[in-house]
Amino acid sequence: MKIAVIGAGIVGLSTANWLKNYGQETVLFDMHEPGSQTSFGNAGTYAQYANIPTNSPSFLYLFPYLLLNRNSPLFIQTFHIPKLIPWLFQFLKNSKRDKVNDTSNKLTSLLKLIEEGYADLFKDAKCYDYLTREAVLYVWSNKFFYNAAKKDFAKRTETGSEITILNKDQISDLEPNINNIFCGGALFEGSYFANNPKKVSESLFNLFLSKGGLFKKEEVLDIIQEGNQISLKTNESTEQFDKIVICAGIWSKNITSKIEENVPLEAERGYHLMYPELIHTIKRPISWQERGLYFTPMSNGLRTAGTVEFAGLSPKKNQRVINFLDRSTRSVFKNAESPSESWLGYRPSTPDSIPVIGQSEKNPYIYFCFGHQHVGWTLGGISGKLIAQKMSTNKTDLDLSPFSIKRFIK
Ligand SMILES: Cc1cc2nc3c(=O)[nH]c(=O)nc-3n(C[C@H](O)[C@H](O)[C@H](O)COP(=O)(O)OP(=O)(O)OC[C@H]3O[C@@H](n4cnc5c(N)ncnc54)[C@H](O)[C@@H]3O)c2cc1C
Repeated sequence: MKIAVIGAGIVGLSTANWLKNYGQETVLFDMHEPGSQTSFGNAGTYAQYANIPTNSPSFLYLFPYLLLNRNSPLFIQTFHIPKLIPWLFQFLKNSKRDKVNDTSNKLTSLLKLIEEGYADLFKDAKCYDYLTREAVLYVWSNKFFYNAAKKDFAKRTETGSEITILNKDQISDLEPNINNIFCGGALFEGSYFANNPKKVSESLFNLFLSKGGLFKKEEVLDIIQEGNQISLKTNESTEQFDKIVICAGIWSKNITSKIEENVPLEAERGYHLMYPELIHTIKRPISWQERGLYFTPMSNGLRTAGTVEFAGLSPKKNQRVINFLDRSTRSVFKNAESPSESWLGYRPSTPDSIPVIGQSEKNPYIYFCFGHQHVGWTLGGISGKLIAQKMSTNKTDLDLSPFSIKRFIK
């Protein structure tokens, strides 16, 4: 079969590689360099334990606090509120206990399989230099939030993660170079991280090319269906395919709307700052939970990454968010200088925190793999494997019905 993959972020790169593994003639489309958008600037963690969605019962009563507190990681631009309301309403509806348990179970089913999605790709791409096998550390500076978070630890272990609980001294033993303002922590044993997400994406791209995959640096403008024929119209050409899979992150909704399948995808904007002088200061990603951010020891310096800002797809950075990240970094790393770089990315988020993986309801030749919100770097491999299985053999290692677009189509 001749298959088009739209989007060369971590999800599209994984999908394209798995399609080649299943013997398909595969063409990958992106108007940017592979791995250069949201997948470029994340915190790099392979977060198997991340089965607790951001919409949770506590989110309902914490919402006013998150909006008003100076040190909250949530930012909402007033100009975007009218557009945000329908999505936010659904997001809040999904914050009820029974709904959150259901979301968590669905995420768990995917997270349990992350190694099945990545092990072969990483081995074949020979990208081990860009992966560091040090466990991710969560820390809390406030006892109230720490005790609240502990209630979720048992649920998190259902993904196969083991958690070691740490007191303040044990945090210092692990990470002696931080200003230890934390009261407790949790170490997610067996988790690991990419010390250079860009290089990981590049390795997966080169692997795809080495398998005979074709890349076209073109923007997909439309999908054209005539009878049983399906074509992609790009800014340069129109080409016929047997099947098409949309892996375009936040921009997927622009393409699905062309086939009248509207998905409520919202950009949860996240930022990062780079501190080259803080290279080798810590050994593992440290996530300061109340601040919603990670400090990750990348190969070119310390990266402070996180926050959620609702402001649509505008490329304009918000200096308040940058100041918040910088202030947070300085309170933990006394030697921090001015950041050398700031970056803004767009997490592709559904209001139920579950990705869309499966076949179109309207057109059997079109498939979807997007909406991975805060955990796309972790879930890219397995999502790509599952959708490639579905497209190639119609048999999947995991039942994909919970991830169907059906839930959004009236
Ligand atoms: C600050 C921050 C920290 C994060 N940390 C983590 C983490 O530690 N762990 C984790 O698991 N996840 C993390 N994430 C989330 C993760 O980065 C995303 O979920 C993931 O990168 C999404 O990948 P993607 O391939 O779906 O999208 P993208 O990487 O955005 O790729 C989509 C691609 O589609 C292309 N495209 C769009 N429209 C078209 C078109 N019309 N034609 C052709 N191509 C098109 C784009 O150019 C782009 O290259 C973080 C995100 C942020 C912002």
